[in-house]
Amino acid sequence: MIISIQRWDWQTIKARWAPAVLITAAVAAAALMAPSYAAAADKEAVLTETGEVKAQPQIKTTDVFSSRRILYDRVSALTQIPWYRLAAIDQYERTLTSVHPKDRKHPERLTGIFVQPAVWSGPLNPNLEDTHPSSISLFNGMGQDGDGDGIADPNNDMDLLYSISSKLKPHGHSMDDFAIGLWAYYQNGRSVQRIMQYSKLYEKFGKLDLFKHSFPLPIGNNYSYRSTFGMGRNWGGYRIHEGTDLFAGYGVPVRSTCYGIIELKGWNKYGGWRIGIRDLNNYYHYYAHLQGFDKNIKAGDIVVPGQSIGWVGSSGYGKPGTQGKFPPHLHYGIYRDTGLTEWSFDPYPLLKHWENQERQSLRKSKKARP
Ligand SMILES: [Zn+2]
Repeated sequence: MIISIQRWDWQTIKARWAPAVLITAAVAAAALMAPSYAAAADKEAVLTETGEVKAQPQIKTTDVFSSRRILYDRVSALTQIPWYRLAAIDQYERTLTSVHPKDRKHPERLTGIFVQPAVWSGPLNPNLEDTHPSSISLFNGMGQDGDGDGIADPNNDMDLLYSISSKLKPHGHSMDDFAIGLWAYYQNGRSVQRIMQYSKLYEKFGKLDLFKHSFPLPIGNNYSYRSTFGMGRNWGGYRIHEGTDLFAGYGVPVRSTCYGIIELKGWNKYGGWRIGIRDLNNYYHYYAHLQGFDKNIKAGDIVVPGQSIGWVGSSGYGKPGTQGKFPPHLHYGIYRDTGLTEWSFDPYPLLKHWENQERQSLRKSKKARP
């Protein structure tokens, strides 16, 4: 915790809080403060700016997830906001930090929530580092004390989650109320959509550990692909190629690479039958030129890694149903949401990584069989 207050302030605060409260707060804080959390700990693999795949750090992700869950449950008990909605906000904020690391610089902590100093302390507050709940409230800042230590610390997990919850709670408890509250806070439709999607995922699976990935085709020798990102397209004009083409025969199953929500399903003149899936890293996974879709899935549905969503085909470049203008293949692209725009990055390194991972676990499970 960063405590930027004068000594006499601290004495006043200590005097005001009964010792019992201080002890409770200290115990709670100790329970929540686990060793050290790398920001990337909840991803099994991330892409660096140079496009390399960075394996996850040597931190047990399960520890981070269980510490976070304790945090959400505690704030949920205080605010009556279900843990999965708090988890969804927190995860969304974490994705914002990963695309805007400079504007959202903060020490390592459990929650990814970030509040700009002027918003935390109040727009007209002359002290941007104000941590006094009373003066912050006087200047209409959003900073509040969530863990009962008398300080509204913009880097304290409880204080952050409690403060954001206080913004949402007055709007009510239904799903619609929650969406309205999110809109009032973020003023951005994308933010509302993401957080609602994430909340649905966490509620459905009842856990935070939803970062496993699969290769988009069944592992084997019946496909080929290479890095073609940014090259001219072989078909369809002069736009650069935003993805990787995986060549395989008609009818080979196409699988979701992640836990996510179907955001789009249908025909596009260029992409043919295509599907878009949003994941918890705010990546949009785009699958194009399908022969058809699994009939059980529709927009808004939840998918898991490895789940069949359709079949390899050669649809596209014409009116609905057009196919056969090029060899059958899966076009797979990943787009990253920055909060306002989306840009594509080369999925090739991640594809290689997922393929290797799956090959290894297949080998292991074969060995394990008697
Ligand atoms: Zn392609």
